[in-house]
Amino acid sequence: MTADLEQPAAARNADAAWQDDVRAGARHVRDLAALPLSPAERAAAQDAAAAHKVRVPKPYLELIDWDDPNDPIRAQVIPSPQELVATEGELEDPIGDHAFSPVPRLTHRHADRVLLFPTYQCAVYCRFCFRKESLTAIGRGYTREALEPALAYIAGHEEIREVILTGGDPLSLPDKALAEIRARIEAIPHVRLLRIHTRVPVALPSRITPGLVAALQGRLMVTVVTHFNHPRELTAEAEAACRTMRQSGFVLLNQSVLLKGVNDRVEVLEELCRELMYRLGVKPYYLHHGDLARGMAHRRTTIAEGQVLVAELRARVSGVCNPTYVIDLPDGGGKVPLGSSHVEGQDGDTWRIRGQDGKTREYKEVVG
Ligand code: SF4
Repeated sequence: MTADLEQPAAARNADAAWQDDVRAGARHVRDLAALPLSPAERAAAQDAAAAHKVRVPKPYLELIDWDDPNDPIRAQVIPSPQELVATEGELEDPIGDHAFSPVPRLTHRHADRVLLFPTYQCAVYCRFCFRKESLTAIGRGYTREALEPALAYIAGHEEIREVILTGGDPLSLPDKALAEIRARIEAIPHVRLLRIHTRVPVALPSRITPGLVAALQGRLMVTVVTHFNHPRELTAEAEAACRTMRQSGFVLLNQSVLLKGVNDRVEVLEELCRELMYRLGVKPYYLHHGDLARGMAHRRTTIAEGQVLVAELRARVSGVCNPTYVIDLPDGGGKVPLGSSHVEGQDGDTWRIRGQDGKTREYKEVVG
C-alpha cells in the first residue's frame, strides 16, 4: 500500500477514536443515570441540569474519583443543586458579550480584536461557564450563512488584527467547517492572528488529530488558548495533543478559572502551572477570578483570597510559569490585573518596593 493510500485510513482511525470517546461519554441528562452516583446525588444532578446542558466525553469522565464527593474533576462537570441558587449581583451576561455585539455571533469590545462565535455548542459543558446562559438560550451550531454578517463586519473594520474563535468550543466543529472558517478569515488582509479558545485538549484530547491541525494551518499565526484548571487534567493524552499542536507551529497559552474546591490551594496551582509549562509546553497566561455567572457563588473565592494565593504562587514558581490574575469586568471594562502591587510608596526619585521575601527595599531611579 502506498503512503497516499495509507493516509486516509490513518485519518479515519484518528476520527473514529475521538468519535468513540464522545459516544461513550455522557451526552444528555439521561446519561447521568449510568454514572456511579447515589440515588440522591443523581436526582439532585438531574434537577440542576435544567440550568445548563450536560456533556462529558469519556476521557474526562474517567478522571473522576467517584468515591470523593468533592472531587475537583467531578465539580467541574457534574451538575450540583447549588447551581439553582442565584445570588443577588450575579449576571446573565457577566462580561457584557451582548452589549458589545454589533452583529450576531460577534463581540467587538477592544478595537484590535473580536470574538467570533462559530458555534454555541461544546465538547464538554463546564458547570462554571460564564457563557452558560448564552449556550443554553442560543445553543446553535455552525452554519455558513449564520457567520456571514460577522465575517462582513470583520472585513469592513481594518482596525481588527486578531480574530478569536470562541463559543461554544470551536474545536468541537468538524475539520471541514474549521478549514472553511479559517480560509474565510485569512482572506481578510488586515487580520494577522487567529486565536482559538478551547477546552477540547483537556476533555477530549483525541480530537486533536492531524486533520484538525491541518484545517487550521494557513497564512495566519495560530494561538491556541487551552483551559486546564487542575493538574489531574494534564494526562498523557492531553500532553500528546499539546505536542501535536506545538509541533505544528501553534503557540499554546492556558487560561484557568480560580474555583473554590477545585484549584484554590497554592500547591494545586503550583503543580498546574509548572507542569503546564515544563511538560505540556503551554504557557500559563491568565488565572481568572470567577465571573458573576448565575448559580456559581459556591465556586467563587473572594478577591482577597485570590490575591494571597497568587502572591504565594509568584514566590514559588518562575516568571514563565506564572499566570496573571485578572478579573473580566462587567459592562465591557475588559480584563484587568488583580495581583497586589509591590510598590509601597515613593519619595522623590526613591521608591519603596516590597521584594518576594516580603522585605521592603528602596530603589533609587537613575535616568539620563
Ligand atoms: S468548553 Fe468553554 S464555552 Fe463550553 S461550557 Fe466549558 S467553559 Fe463554557
